Amino acid sequence: PDPTETLVDMIEGSTRRFAGEVALDFFGGTMTYAELGDEISRVANGLRRLGVKPGDRVALVLPNCPQHIVAFYAVLRLGAIVVEHNPLYTERELRHQFEDHGASVAIVWDKVYSMVRGFPRDMGLHTVVAVDITRSMPLATRLALRLPISKSRTARGALTVAQPLKDAIEWSALVGSRRLRTAHPRPLLGDTAVLQYTSGTTGTPKGAILSHFNLQANAQQSEAWVPGLERGKEVFYGVLPMFHAYGLTLCLTVAMSIGARLVLFPKFDVGLVLNAVKRTPPTFLPAVPPIYDKLVKAANEKGISLRGTKYAISGAMSLPLATVELWETATGGLLVEGYGMTECSPIAVGNPIGSSRRPGTVGVPFPSTEIRVVDPKDPTVDRGFDEEGELLVRGPQVFSGYWDRPTETAQVLLADGWLRTGDIVTVSSDGFVTVVDRIKELIITGGFNVSPSEVEAALLSHPDIADAAVVGLKAETGGEDVIAAVVLVPGATLDVAGLREYCRTRISAYKVPRRIVEVDDLPRSLVGKVLRRQVRDSLAAQTPAG
Ligand code: ATP
Ligand code: MG
Repeated sequence: PDPTETLVDMIEGSTRRFAGEVALDFFGGTMTYAELGDEISRVANGLRRLGVKPGDRVALVLPNCPQHIVAFYAVLRLGAIVVEHNPLYTERELRHQFEDHGASVAIVWDKVYSMVRGFPRDMGLHTVVAVDITRSMPLATRLALRLPISKSRTARGALTVAQPLKDAIEWSALVGSRRLRTAHPRPLLGDTAVLQYTSGTTGTPKGAILSHFNLQANAQQSEAWVPGLERGKEVFYGVLPMFHAYGLTLCLTVAMSIGARLVLFPKFDVGLVLNAVKRTPPTFLPAVPPIYDKLVKAANEKGISLRGTKYAISGAMSLPLATVELWETATGGLLVEGYGMTECSPIAVGNPIGSSRRPGTVGVPFPSTEIRVVDPKDPTVDRGFDEEGELLVRGPQVFSGYWDRPTETAQVLLADGWLRTGDIVTVSSDGFVTVVDRIKELIITGGFNVSPSEVEAALLSHPDIADAAVVGLKAETGGEDVIAAVVLVPGATLDVAGLREYCRTRISAYKVPRRIVEVDDLPRSLVGKVLRRQVRDSLAAQTPAG
């Protein structure tokens, strides 16, 4: 896209330029760019009639589905702010976010309708629109999934809940509106487009304020990163949730701006994805490492070919070399890693696509993006090449602050525009960045810093270990002890002494876990990051101090 255009200009341009091409594909049911543009306009008008004004927050609590995309651009068209939410969050988590942003209208998955409807009235929420995502699936899929088929006739792609919920405004009521008159005010480039909550890995999720400019800039940088994408020809797979910055920019915005077909998956499920591969194979598949592993394994078992997937982009957590090898062998395409965070809309650094890439690193800064590595205790002190320090980022994709949190904003946004990432990295003399760990997750033991990722990698290289999380627990002696929670491969038994001995051959003695605890599985975030904070809390609860 062109970062002098808003997301609204971009989508309107694409709906004209690629009018007859397929924009969205949901279980094989499709919507063209022209149809998408028409629905966006109608839903925008429907929302306007519900009283949505520029600057208002409109909450979306939806999995990936066509209505999610329509609603997203309809809200933006009005100059209002989209607030994305994870529809699998608990009542408490969602209510906390609604209290934070004070949205007046919410468009929600019918499964969470009653929950959202029950939120206290004083939060400012006056209308909740229910969306039945199964209504945009083709009839054959609905029959195969044994979904109730309602006889009511609705407009194409228009949805109503099968059993109308008392008090609900249905999606079809919005889609049934006339098109929005073009004279209605439009958002400006610097206006806030999205409030995107961080993943909550290290604390309560914070709402990052992202403008049209931030999001468009990052989509343009991403396009420049993947130069082989052809306009009007690509098939993007939306397996990552669009309610996370990564899916939103790399999948949705880039797809819409180049006129790609975006195949939407309401959740990641290998069966669903491989069914789609048989029908319309992907050319571009952004995801996270565990997804690539699972896809290749299942595709091999079922004899389904993944060839033709030109580009796969991994982010959010470190990408193992074994995954790169596995994926590239299976597809004949490339799997490269990027690094980012919600506050960067989200990507800041990416491995070059082509011969200069360096697997094992996250690559080089995006165009127009500056980086520095500094002393985390004093960000005015720069570190040298290959020295560990906190990564700072400055560029057009960097956010302007957290919603309603001046203190936290001031902690991460320095006066001259540098963003403190909270991540420890090293940078080589030719500019390649390697992520070490998050500052908040480093373990301090006997005066040394231990990177949990390094210890986890040592454990994971053992054939008995399927998964591992390493955390620090308060030690009697002060400081912290290195403690590991491990998931064993089926059939293995835990041999603590043997494992510690094995670790000693790979990492320094002070890094070897003092205790190793077997667990059934590890808590992970929706994009698949291990939630070390939860692991630590549950280990701490099991063992009283000492
Ligand atoms: P919160 O800020 O609420 O604690 P979060 O930081 O996990 O949650 P995100 O913005 O989704 O929320 O994630 C950004 C973080 O993900 C980065 O700060 C970094 O720690 C990690 N990360 C992103 N890409 C990579 C990567 N390629 N390798 C290692 N870590 C990565
Ligand atoms: Mg973060």
